[in-house]
Amino acid sequence: MLKIAVQKSGRLYEDSLQLLKECGLSIDNGMDQLKAEVRNFPAEIYFLRNSDVPQYLEDGVVDLAIIGENVLMEKQSAVTILEKLGFSKCRLSLALPKHLPYLGITQLNGKKIATSYPHLLRSYLESKGVSADIHLISGSVEIAPNIGLADAICDLVSSGSTLFKNGLEEKDIILRSEACLAVNNQSINIKNEWIDELRFRIRSVLQARGHKYILFNIPNEKIEIASSILPVLKSPTVLPLLENGWSSLHSVIHVHDFWNVIKKLKEIGAQGILVIPVENMVI
Ligand code: ATP
Ligand code: MG
Repeated sequence: MLKIAVQKSGRLYEDSLQLLKECGLSIDNGMDQLKAEVRNFPAEIYFLRNSDVPQYLEDGVVDLAIIGENVLMEKQSAVTILEKLGFSKCRLSLALPKHLPYLGITQLNGKKIATSYPHLLRSYLESKGVSADIHLISGSVEIAPNIGLADAICDLVSSGSTLFKNGLEEKDIILRSEACLAVNNQSINIKNEWIDELRFRIRSVLQARGHKYILFNIPNEKIEIASSILPVLKSPTVLPLLENGWSSLHSVIHVHDFWNVIKKLKEIGAQGILVIPVENMVI
């Protein structure tokens, strides 16, 4: 039985459950607030506080966790990251009041920096030969400069709107983070089979999210040029249409290439272009 930790409520909660559900896990999160059974996979889901996850994982109370890389790095957890999951992306950054010119990290020598990430900040500063006074606060770090508590902050940023609202500006990035699947180092040997199965499903779901299925009609003499436009897995499928001289081309494209590909296909005379989401992609 795999014990999997996800955040109890907060930023990672919905995306974590969504991912597990798309992996086909049917989770009964009804009455019990701490634990949920999975009906069709040998797993239990534990709903934990974000900050508690690294310890539970390291101690083997849970085998796996969906958690921000930033949390594991700060706690220096002796666990292994198996997969990056592509959501809850953020940066741990240094930010200063907007009006202050920033000439480089050495400017922070002897200054006071407020953060909830003392370990990551300290190692970054040390690596740059900077010695600053680190002021640990657990929340609302971004108000510290305004109330005279610090000269700068080191905090998580995604859109930057919280910094902006507080008259701060991101000056330096210490770490980039996203949600990941992490494993307890003993569990990986003992429960290998089911961990591998879950990883396989996660990869298929993440692959699929990055791709779309596309089909369109094209005159036969344009098949070659159309396939050269498609950055395909293999070569596209070509099916004859009833109408003479026309074919239907099917392929899978990356979402990043999407609009570009559509534009080029239209230019060469593709018609009836259909784009369909991919639910799973096993490669
Ligand atoms: P707890 O669950 O213990 O109450 P928390 O309140 O810190 O912890 P959340 O704020 O819900 O938890 O989530 C924090 C996590 O979300 C971070 O550790 C990080 O991985 C991720 N995250 C993504 N973007 C941001 C952001 N802009 N600010 C803060 N956290 C972010
Ligand atoms: Mg919280």
